[in-house]
Amino acid sequence: MKERIHKDVVIIGAGMAGLTAALYCGRMNLDTLVLENGIVGGQIANAVDIENYPGFVSVRGGDLIATVQKQAENFGAVLDEFDEIERVTLKTTPKIVETQEKIYAADVVIIASGMNRRKLPLPEERKFAGRGVHYCELCDGHAYNGKIIAVMGGGNAAVDAANFLTKYASKLYLIHRSEFRADEVSQKRLRGNDKVTIMLQTEIRALRGDGRLQSVEVFDKRTGETKTLAVDGIFVNIGVEPNTQLFKDELPLSASGRIIAGEDCRTEIAGVFAAGDVREKEIRQLTTAASDGTTAALLAEKYLGTRG
Ligand SMILES: Cc1cc2nc3c(=O)[nH]c(=O)nc-3n(C[C@H](O)[C@H](O)[C@H](O)COP(=O)(O)OP(=O)(O)OC[C@H]3O[C@@H](n4cnc5c(N)ncnc54)[C@H](O)[C@@H]3O)c2cc1C
Repeated sequence: MKERIHKDVVIIGAGMAGLTAALYCGRMNLDTLVLENGIVGGQIANAVDIENYPGFVSVRGGDLIATVQKQAENFGAVLDEFDEIERVTLKTTPKIVETQEKIYAADVVIIASGMNRRKLPLPEERKFAGRGVHYCELCDGHAYNGKIIAVMGGGNAAVDAANFLTKYASKLYLIHRSEFRADEVSQKRLRGNDKVTIMLQTEIRALRGDGRLQSVEVFDKRTGETKTLAVDGIFVNIGVEPNTQLFKDELPLSASGRIIAGEDCRTEIAGVFAAGDVREKEIRQLTTAASDGTTAALLAEKYLGTRG
């Protein structure tokens, strides 16, 4: 039989949001456990140069997250990377988080399970990731000042990314395998920019380059023609997968699959908070993840104090 253990707070996910929440909870003397089923640091774990996190001119994702982990552990939060969650029951008191090995009875659950961006489905993706293949225009766009950029995707996120990147690009290709799904206003703005060439019904078939990305091979589905485009960087924007499978029967999710919670990170269940990229919100950055982690932890403490 599995051991049953009480925790003041169980945090699901050890990315920036979860570890920041752990730091605050630990510092408030709450008995805090963080469960992580992948790489500590989440999306940022392998990022090379983070230049927009206040306090650092430039920092590696791994170094930044290792520091936050250390801060959390110094304040007594415990991190378990090896015991995977099997199910959660959030509507009961206490809330139950059942892992392969244990049953945690938690007064508060902070969900900080983030999301995964859909990767470019080509074998060369790994070779060029961070060396010409990118997933975050706000994070990496500035490195392409005066360069040729391609954006892959046809939804709002892709077209917004393309519009944003025109501030850096000398030339920008928007490449999408079918028709636009983005709203008219964003499309119009993109079409009105002289730097932009829109290539619909076009697939990216291969990436080429010596160490860094130098060109992409594209296939025009209408003409059957294949050609090579010289590009310095490609920003892939073909969707994200929020890590919310575990919670879909417990909490309402948005159309994009994220957890619906307010700016205060409170979900519709008292004592359950959603923090970071897993929460439905407009801006998803490290600073906003840290902000959510802070908010969730402080309001968790308030909830514990006022529960009676
Ligand atoms: C390549 C890349 C570069 C980026 N660069 C920047 C940048 O320079 N600046 C910036 O501000 N932002 C950047 N971002 C965005 C930033 O990384 C995210 O906004 C931020 O990391 C979100 O943090 P999070 O903690 O909410 O989620 P995540 O980082 O997604 O972390 C969630 C964690 O939860 C874990 N998890 C998921 N499901 C479970 C489960 N069932 N049980 C246990 N654990 C679970 C995951 O393994 C993961 O570790 C970048 C993103 C990418 C992909």
